[in-house]
Amino acid sequence: MKIKELAVYVDGKFYPKSQAKISVFDHGLLYGDGVFEGIRAYDGLVFKLIEHVERLYRSAKMIMLTIPIEEDKMEQIVLQTLRKNNLRESYIRLIVTRGVGDLGLNPKKCPKPTIICITDTLSLMEGKEENGITAMISWVRRNPVDATSHEIKSLNYLNSILAKIEANIAGSDEAICLDKSGFVCEGVGENIFIINGDLELVTPPTCTGALEGITAKAAREIAKKLGHKVTVRNITPFELFTAKEIFLTGTAAEIAPVVKINGRLIFGGRPGPVTKNLMKEFKKLVRDPREGISIYK
Ligand code: PMP
Repeated sequence: MKIKELAVYVDGKFYPKSQAKISVFDHGLLYGDGVFEGIRAYDGLVFKLIEHVERLYRSAKMIMLTIPIEEDKMEQIVLQTLRKNNLRESYIRLIVTRGVGDLGLNPKKCPKPTIICITDTLSLMEGKEENGITAMISWVRRNPVDATSHEIKSLNYLNSILAKIEANIAGSDEAICLDKSGFVCEGVGENIFIINGDLELVTPPTCTGALEGITAKAAREIAKKLGHKVTVRNITPFELFTAKEIFLTGTAAEIAPVVKINGRLIFGGRPGPVTKNLMKEFKKLVRDPREGISIYK
């Protein structure tokens, strides 16, 4: 029996996965000139779809990329692609590139952005949720806010990829980047939180160059509801190494406990109770119809 290939949306049409292609002259490929979102659907609900699409348009605004369709049409593209693939659980990649130009980097030569929507699956934490992950501070500093910082969710992820390579070499699951002053910034594709002795959650501000994470915002809200104090401020490596608990947040990673950092055990090398509780509540939240948009909308 022939297995039906996943349908991928490219500029108004659906193509089977193996035939979904862009031009070699697309500046998304040539220069990483474009923006994207990683979004997730749980049980037929696209979690925080409106927030993700809003962030996509903010990233586009920053790089002066005019997306030729309205935000609600972009939301519909996501929902339509999921329906087309009959996917109720999915990791979604929504991409807008500068489009086709010449070999020079001038975006003026790219008249039409390319819009792509891939609905697939991705599991970062498979099997690691229970026991947590290991992490290390990498030598790669986060690009500062006066450079191409990760506040822009752009197609240029070399900053993160270099850090991830260091983690791979060191045999660590994840890498943590510091900002240029030496404060803790974020993971390669996740925001970071520590929990200190007063059961207070602390997370770095975006002025360290971190992305304003949608999962991080949800985690902060859950924590407040559970009665924790949540503070956004700079975190030193000392505070990270001596934290009671550490966790990362991201669309792909969800809430991921960090149990070892640069060789130092956190909560004795296992996920701590506060993180576990947040993970439990987050699992409920993503399936709450008030938090997402139904694929049948
Ligand atoms: N930081 C970076 C650099 C990321 O790429 C991501 C993943 N999109 C995050 C943080 C987490 O953001 P979110 O929770 O919105 O997925």
